[in-house]
Amino acid sequence: MDWYVMGVDLGSTTAKAVIVDQDGRMRGSRVVQMGAVSREAVRIAMDAALDDAGLTQDDIVRTISTGYGRRLVPGADKTFTEITCHARGAAALHAGARLVIDIGGQDSKAIALGEDGLVDRFAMNDRCASGTGRFFDVLCRALEVDIAEVDALALAGDENLEVSSMCATFAETEVISLLAQGAERGDIAASVHKAVASRTLGLVAQVGKNSPVVMTGGVAKNRALVHFLERALGLDIVLLTDPQIAGALGAALIAREEYQGDLAAAAEDEKTAHDLDGRLATPSHSCVDCDGHLERHGPVPVTLQMSFTDR
Ligand code: ADP
Repeated sequence: MDWYVMGVDLGSTTAKAVIVDQDGRMRGSRVVQMGAVSREAVRIAMDAALDDAGLTQDDIVRTISTGYGRRLVPGADKTFTEITCHARGAAALHAGARLVIDIGGQDSKAIALGEDGLVDRFAMNDRCASGTGRFFDVLCRALEVDIAEVDALALAGDENLEVSSMCATFAETEVISLLAQGAERGDIAASVHKAVASRTLGLVAQVGKNSPVVMTGGVAKNRALVHFLERALGLDIVLLTDPQIAGALGAALIAREEYQGDLAAAAEDEKTAHDLDGRLATPSHSCVDCDGHLERHGPVPVTLQMSFTDR
């Protein structure tokens, strides 16, 4: 019978769900924008991913959750950290990836992968919103531009403005003050993106520069940040079609591996039980001390037979 697994990434701003089949192929996915972390939004994302795959919840044999709100995901069998899941997802989306830069709504991470695709080292900024999605959301509010269009604005601007504060709380005030001094919106956007890239470089330095570099998380959709980061790193960054689902995909792939492991263990148990039945049905063991025992009680369990021989 065909089986499917689900990975769910409940982040600080979006809920993501991905469905993978038994061969590891992605069959459905959905990203749902939330106001705040919400059980409702995650259920909507899960149902929409099921619809996308043409499946129902009954087809899902295992669900693994990740992300900031991972413990709130309904029906999750297990939780894994975002580090593990983003690394797993990035390595699946780009074979041979050695460095993952994940920037989501409220944190940023640099993850170094070994040749085996497993996490080697990581560095994370989750204390301060600087350079995270929330920071860009604040910037966009102040510049009155849509988040999906801020990159075009930044790429058309001049990056030579001095940005003194990278604090998300003060970014809005700073941007308004720059606008009041007559600065162009594009120049402000470009200068802020350049500053965020240089800050992200500091995070990468903690784990070591390596390539191929893959960017995951919603902020990876920002082409201007990718451009400034590539320049700061001196390396190309692999562009993923949907970088936001990397964590959920990683969770789904881990769920698939675990389920496969369980199936293999169950098959092994069944084989052992079958062998054991065969041995119990035709006891070949004979022991001078215990012939009487065998006659009185019939076949004895293998463990007991062994203890007789060991005596
Ligand atoms: P989380 O997992 O914490 O919810 P995500 O990985 O979903 O975060 O990233 C959310 C962030 O991605 C938003 O805060 C926003 O700044 C950014 N983002 C989303 N869509 C775009 C886009 N089209 N262009 C640039 N940035 C985007």
